[in-house]
Formats: sequence, C-alpha cells, structure tokens
Amino acid sequence: MIGVDFDNTVVRYDDVMYREARSRRLIDPSTVSSKRAIRDQIRRLPDGEREWQQLQAIVYGPEIHEASLTDGVEAFFRTCREHDIRVVIISHKTTYASVDETQTNLRIAALAWMRRHRVFDRSGFGLSSADVYFASSRQEKIAWISRLGCTAFIDDLEETFAEPDFPSDVDKILYAPHGPISTLPAVKTMTSWQEIRDALFAPVQS
Ligand SMILES: [Mg+2]
Repeated sequence: MIGVDFDNTVVRYDDVMYREARSRRLIDPSTVSSKRAIRDQIRRLPDGEREWQQLQAIVYGPEIHEASLTDGVEAFFRTCREHDIRVVIISHKTTYASVDETQTNLRIAALAWMRRHRVFDRSGFGLSSADVYFASSRQEKIAWISRLGCTAFIDDLEETFAEPDFPSDVDKILYAPHGPISTLPAVKTMTSWQEIRDALFAPVQS
C-alpha cells in the first residue's frame, strides 16, 4: 500500500495562494507563484506567521475550489491501480482552522474538492472515501501510516519524515517540485509525479 499526503501533494494551491496573497498585499508581484516562495516571503513580514496561517486557512477552506490537481497525480493513481496496489490519502488536517473567520469545515471542503476532481470515480482515481484518512496531528498521521502498513509515503513536508516515530521500513518520498533536495537520511526527493511513478514502477528490464 502506498500512502499519499493531500495538501500541496495531490492538490496544488500555488496559484490561488499567489492571488490571495497579492490581494492581501502580502507579497510583491515578482514573487514566484510557489507555496514555498510565498510562505518564505510572508514569514519575513511583521506578524508574518499569523498572516501565513490565515492565508492557509483561506485557501484550504473557503477558496479550495480554486485549487488545481497537481500535474501527473491522476496518472500515478491509475498506474497504482493497474498494478493492483492500493493507495490511500493520509492528510494532517484539523476540522477547522482557528484563524478562519468563515469556520469552513476543512475536511468536508477537501472531500468536496476530491469529488469534483474525480478522486472517487472509477474512471478517475478510483478511490473510495474510506481510503481518505484525516489526522488531527502529525503524530496521528504517522500512526495511520504505520497502522495501515504503507510501504511508501509521499509528502511535500520534510517534517513528516523527520519525526522520530516515522516507521523506518517505509520508503520516504519528498515531493518537492521547487526544491530543495532533502538532506534527511533515506529521504528521496522527487520533483514531479512522473519521476515518482518511474521510481516506484520502474519498467522491468529484459
Ligand atoms: Mg502537504
């Protein structure tokens, strides 16, 4: 079984984050439209951490419909299905963001986004809603990865793999489309879903 993170791994918020951050005048127009560049610039502002938390709450909640599917992710899920390998989505996502004034239920919003992007269609990703696990903390997320018996986990956050509880026998794949390469032991950094697919399903050499 392969486990996959959700935010910034399956769903791509870069453009909606850029638009929202620009409209709140948190970044200048020359900022690269990537989560990492936007986050780094906002965190340098006075009260930047709070601004960043608020921006995330908006794009993960009431504005999630503006977010897109990451390139290559649907093909990856299809390849897993062709190989009879089960894939689950394991997401660290609280029900509500404390800084979100709209009090949008983030888990319901994420499930609605998945439905709209054919995650639960047989002709799409082919997942069932029971294949989606939400955890309230990073520890709980790691507990699911262990309990479900994942053989590999794909995440955009290096911190997930740095946790001492992260099971040592699970392949750690850092999805980092804009770098940098992880220096953590045994973490493989990959910049696209195509690369992840090739790494996990290398064609058999004859
Ligand atoms: Mg993530």
